[in-house]
Amino acid sequence: MVDQAAHGTSVDVVVADDATPPGRSVQHLVGVTVGLGVTAVALAFALSDGGTGAFKITWLSGVALATALVALTTTAELVAVRVRHGDDAVEELTLLDGVVLLNTLVLPIRGALLVSLAGLLLAYILRRRPVLKMLFNLGVYATASSATAALVTALTPASAAFDAHLMAALVVGSTAFVVINLAHMSLLLAIISDVRPWQVVREDGGLSVLTIMGTTGLTGTVLVLSVSAPALLPCAVLPAVALRYAYRATAERYEQRRRSGRVLDYSHVLASGPTGPDAVAALLRLVHEEFAASVAVAVFSDGTAVRLGADGSTLAPIPPHSVERHLLEIAQLGLLRPAELPSAWQSGMAAPIVAEGRRMGTIAIGTENGPKFRVADLTTLSPLVSALAVALQNSENVMQLVEETSKLRAVVDQAGDGIVVLGRNSMIQVWSPAMERITGVAGAQVIGARFTDVLNDMSVSNDAADTDAGREAQQTPRPTPVAPQITVDVRLRRPDGEKRSTQFSHAALFQDGTLVRDVVIVRDLTAEWRVQRMKSDFIATVSHELRTPLTPLMGYASLLRERGDLIPADKRQRALDVIMERASHLARLVEDLLAASSIDEDEAPMRTLTSADTDLAALVSRAVEDFASASTRIRIEAIPDVVVTCDPTRALQVAGNLISNALKYSDADTTVLVAIDRIGPYGRLVVTDHGHGIPTDDIERIFDKFHRVEDPMIMSTGGTGLGLFIARHLARAMKGDLTAESTLGVGSQFFFTLPIASQQPEP
Ligand code: ADP
Repeated sequence: MVDQAAHGTSVDVVVADDATPPGRSVQHLVGVTVGLGVTAVALAFALSDGGTGAFKITWLSGVALATALVALTTTAELVAVRVRHGDDAVEELTLLDGVVLLNTLVLPIRGALLVSLAGLLLAYILRRRPVLKMLFNLGVYATASSATAALVTALTPASAAFDAHLMAALVVGSTAFVVINLAHMSLLLAIISDVRPWQVVREDGGLSVLTIMGTTGLTGTVLVLSVSAPALLPCAVLPAVALRYAYRATAERYEQRRRSGRVLDYSHVLASGPTGPDAVAALLRLVHEEFAASVAVAVFSDGTAVRLGADGSTLAPIPPHSVERHLLEIAQLGLLRPAELPSAWQSGMAAPIVAEGRRMGTIAIGTENGPKFRVADLTTLSPLVSALAVALQNSENVMQLVEETSKLRAVVDQAGDGIVVLGRNSMIQVWSPAMERITGVAGAQVIGARFTDVLNDMSVSNDAADTDAGREAQQTPRPTPVAPQITVDVRLRRPDGEKRSTQFSHAALFQDGTLVRDVVIVRDLTAEWRVQRMKSDFIATVSHELRTPLTPLMGYASLLRERGDLIPADKRQRALDVIMERASHLARLVEDLLAASSIDEDEAPMRTLTSADTDLAALVSRAVEDFASASTRIRIEAIPDVVVTCDPTRALQVAGNLISNALKYSDADTTVLVAIDRIGPYGRLVVTDHGHGIPTDDIERIFDKFHRVEDPMIMSTGGTGLGLFIARHLARAMKGDLTAESTLGVGSQFFFTLPIASQQPEP
């Protein structure tokens, strides 16, 4: 790549500081430039008459004068001030054009050109400039010097007076020099970095005018002193030094601007929110390029370390025991001392990465053969590393925040109890998944809504039975500044109609009497509440069921004991029958209770079941026989030859339970239909009644232990709520099933299926 080039007065054109071969177009431009230079010098030589310069310096002999001017030219070039424009452009501000002007005024054209070019060549050799760059610069200066010499010679008055003519000649000569330089530089920039020539002219024009003025003034002064008062010549050093300082100030300004640009570039990178490693990689690339470093490394306290190699693009981890890891011990921004330099580094600088007083690591860059770093370079490195430290701290904070948030999220998401977080005005901010499960209301529907409204909606119902719940919810106590932590029981109705008993535990935070936050933990107590109810139902049911047969039992027993002999035989027999019947009812009850508890424990019926092929029609007749007193109400629709495999005694128990319920839960003037059919591989017994029916909510729960649709406190029919529970278990133990369908006020149907006996062919 071509490094780049110059502007304005006394501007050097610089080409290719690095090893990369320049492009073809650059080589062409250099060729053309050299050609132009040679032509210009040849023309100047041909056209000049070989006389003397306009002004005579009498106090120096010809050779001494020429030597002094060559030395002056070389010095002017050597004390150039380098100004970096952007990434590629390096401009050199020199006092060279002033010296060329002086050479032209005190020497003949040929001599002036030879001295100028010799001085330049010497400077380039001393500075070990690459050949291509040297050729280009010599070409430019040969053209510029020839034109300047020709113009100045033509315009300088023959009288060699220090007058306005002379000033005009100096201005024109200096301008020609600058313009030719500028033209070459614009062309070169256009080729190497797509910058339009006019843009270069516009940017550098102002500086060029100022340098023309400075050069003209300085050259005029030196000329006057050289000719008329050589003893005062040392005084000319002062304006020369002043001019050089002005150049340095300009260079400094450009440098500042460029550094700010770098920091700005990096802050743009950071603004895109890179991860920690990305921010580090971006910084290493930036400093690597900025300082033309051979290597850039980042070493961190957590043991990680990366290195950006010479190509400036491949980032590689640094092995654990590498010397570069010792850079972590460098605690202060600075140039690396020889002892601190990792092997192969010729020079280096390091900056600790410190954020909020915490040492995170070190950024270091090094050169292996390029120019050494200067203290001034630290001022560029420092803000960049500080920006990185802030970015790393931020990204750590963000990561911590994300981790904390995800922990909290997990707590909220996985908690079995519902969690609701309310903000000001009781606005719902969080509605946990468990809350969705309990209430059947999705979080998306309620976030941002007022908790009270949502609660009221959930409690409002169309049927009268629920108005109580609605009122209850509306009047649910709320936390107050005096009692911010309260627990309230709330009954809710889900959108699907299911009721839930819940407990709300509020933990509210108030500020100046206003609610700021309330965290509500919602426990679903429905199951516990059901168990409670079941227990009390059970006690009520069982005591009722036990007491009912006991009364006649005790009555008849005491009658027989006290007056048994006096009672006629037939009445005594009836009394004994009742005692037997009630006692066996009690025995059945106890048996049911035992069966129910053993089903719970280990599915005992399955183990005690027998298995036999049984004709369903015969089974039905036997079951109906047990209801002789209600035989007129029972109608049988049985198809023959449906033979099933079952335990006949248990199947009879199930059928008997279904017929008994059908009779019990329907009016005495209605019929009960007992039908048999066949469904696929099953024989089916269907018991249909036209009774009270069963509410939809209860249709499955009647198969639960102790569940009765009737309130046990006001029940008009006897029963324990165990019959269907046991029946379904028996049906399933026999590889069949028991299900129910019902319409309130119309009647119910129970379906008892059993597997068809294996020998029986499909009809
Ligand atoms: P029990 O009849 O002893 O109460 P079951 O387990 O046999 O116990 O029945 C449970 C409940 O199911 C009954 O209490 C009754 O409310 C309801 N039930 C059962 N069969 C019918 C039916 N045919 N019609 C209406 N309700 C019924």
